[in-house]
Amino acid sequence: MNAIEDADVLVARLRATFRSGRTKPIAWRREQLTRLRALFTENREAIADALHVDLHKPRAEAYATEVDFPVREIDHTLEHLEEWLRPEPVDPAALAHLPVGSSAGTRYEPLGTVLVIAPWNYPVQLLLVPVVGALASGNTAVLKPSELTPAGSALIARLVPQYLDPDAVAVVEGGVPETTALLAQRFDHIFYTGNGTVGRIVMRAAAEHLTPVTLELGGKSPVFVDRGVDLAVVADRLAETKFRNAGQTCVAPDYILTDPVTARALVAALAEAVEIRYGRDPQTSDTYGRIVNERHFDRIAALLSSGPIAFGGETDRADRYIAPTVLADVKPDAPVMREEIFGPVLPILTVADLDEAISFINDRDKPLALYGFTENETTRQRLADETSSGGIGFGLPIAHLRIPELPFGGIGESGMGAYHGPHSIATFSHRKARLDVPLG
Ligand code: NAD
Repeated sequence: MNAIEDADVLVARLRATFRSGRTKPIAWRREQLTRLRALFTENREAIADALHVDLHKPRAEAYATEVDFPVREIDHTLEHLEEWLRPEPVDPAALAHLPVGSSAGTRYEPLGTVLVIAPWNYPVQLLLVPVVGALASGNTAVLKPSELTPAGSALIARLVPQYLDPDAVAVVEGGVPETTALLAQRFDHIFYTGNGTVGRIVMRAAAEHLTPVTLELGGKSPVFVDRGVDLAVVADRLAETKFRNAGQTCVAPDYILTDPVTARALVAALAEAVEIRYGRDPQTSDTYGRIVNERHFDRIAALLSSGPIAFGGETDRADRYIAPTVLADVKPDAPVMREEIFGPVLPILTVADLDEAISFINDRDKPLALYGFTENETTRQRLADETSSGGIGFGLPIAHLRIPELPFGGIGESGMGAYHGPHSIATFSHRKARLDVPLG
């Protein structure tokens, strides 16, 4: 692929490495993970620089989300790898009908050669954290970074061959033609993160080869804010998680459901929280990001007229800047409620009570995440029991994805499959059944 190799030649080369057996020993997997760790720790500055060019990503945010987070995932994997890969015997009672001395169990085996396709919003992490699972499981992998963040893509293409086994891991840069050429090949798994339209293209291509897919998609993640909660705390946490990366986070709060009285007070608390975080003019703040490109800028700017602007609303196309914005009294059929916002615009919709909030959520596609701010245990339980979403978080949005023991993935329109920690091993391995019956 790239200028040097065609897609079929590249995949054949990685497949030959897999067939040689080199990637199966735990020692090889640990070595690759350790080198991947070094890629992050030795290139912190270069990663932050590239993300600043592509997204104006604040340095501290780049370290936290694009370096420290993957390093923690690698450390956790190195700590638990043998335990996760240990064969699991079945209860001997299940073998009572077989000759004495029979045993049975399952063990994970690597899949082969996998394809990882990543989007632009966290361009390093969303490409390389799946690779942690692919390598820990003993696979070879083709990595396709997003063309929308060219500095991050070029950096990965330069660093990966310096650190990882070049016959086992290859980076292919490019856009639709390159991805299309890759998708025509037979892989043993395709791990795609991005939007649902392309997710469907990926799944169609995978069907040709009966290749299993993981689709990490997006959607509108709702937030329910209960009466009587401490709105200063709620607003601070919402401002942090909604406006980080200028709202371009797949699990960012998308919209708020609350009662009319709480809505009014929440607007004031959010205005204060945004000012504390980004100052009076967020455009001059070092810690506030930009929209990835003009197409997305125009799309998000068009959503600003979806309801009364409570605060924010300023835009500067030349700088791809959209201010942290809250829209109040938004109607359920407003344009901003018809698509994933993926930008720094937070609509507030009013509902009479929890029942109406639950119906509102269940009337729409299953979200990637659902959040609740409430002190009431019954309310928490009802939200958890009576709705469906990829994950659910109370008290702090986004944080559930930083816990490697929790599966991270969507359901329905927000995706299929999951990863992180042991769930990545399950995704990138086959769980093989084995039965041993003595001959004598
Ligand atoms: P994107 O435009 O960078 O596309 C993602 C990948 O798909 C890229 O590598 C791109 O080259 C490839 N691609 C684009 N068009 C293609 C085509 N026609 N055929 C084949 N491949 C193609 O990123 P995006 O989709 O705009 O990313 C944003 C979306 O991703 C949002 O919906 C967001 O919620 C979702 N997302 C999900 C997660 C998650 O973990 N679930 C994380 C981040 C983003």
